[in-house]
Amino acid sequence: MAKYIEAKCRICRREGCKLFLKGDRCFTDKCAHERRPYAPGQHGRARKKVSDYAVQLREKQKTRRAYGMLERQFRGYFEKADMKKGVTGTNLLVMLECRLDNVVYRLGFANSRNQARQLVRHGIFTLNGHKVTIPSLQVSVGDTVELPEKNRKIPILAQIQEVIARRGCPVWLEIDGPAFKGSVKAMPQRDDIQFPVNEQLIVELYSK
Ligand code: SF4
Repeated sequence: MAKYIEAKCRICRREGCKLFLKGDRCFTDKCAHERRPYAPGQHGRARKKVSDYAVQLREKQKTRRAYGMLERQFRGYFEKADMKKGVTGTNLLVMLECRLDNVVYRLGFANSRNQARQLVRHGIFTLNGHKVTIPSLQVSVGDTVELPEKNRKIPILAQIQEVIARRGCPVWLEIDGPAFKGSVKAMPQRDDIQFPVNEQLIVELYSK
């Protein structure tokens, strides 16, 4: 699958907010968005007239990039969200939050969604006791994600307990740090998703 391999901090600067794409670095004063809070490039600081379309596009790009997706896949999520009952924008965000790689990230098993995706692909987690390698799997209430004992010594996971303790856990998830285990208590509600996005703008963009 194709993936974005350019500088990640440029994405945050382009979108004008911190998307936490680089793990620990995002919490230090090395954060590029904090040091240079304007768009990248020669004309990054120029004043621009912003159309409605541009506002909608930026909101969509921000969300898509935060969850590390390419356009076709993101559009697919929107179409599924649109077919579900309820508010399309909320459905979209809930589906994105319920991806397995995002759950691994939210539980604190990984420093960033990118890292979470890589770890899931390598099959180091189990879902309900079974090895999984598909980052886009949708979790449901009652599902349990676990790091089996034999995988706990992987060097990249040396700081995992610190990350779990520091990060905290969203209300819809439950983490048992010492057991390296997390579970889904409930489906996330809109208020539980602490991501600065106006999802209605994404709906308007795709509904044109
Ligand atoms: Fe974004 Fe993190 Fe880079 Fe800051 S350090 S600009 S939050 S990816």
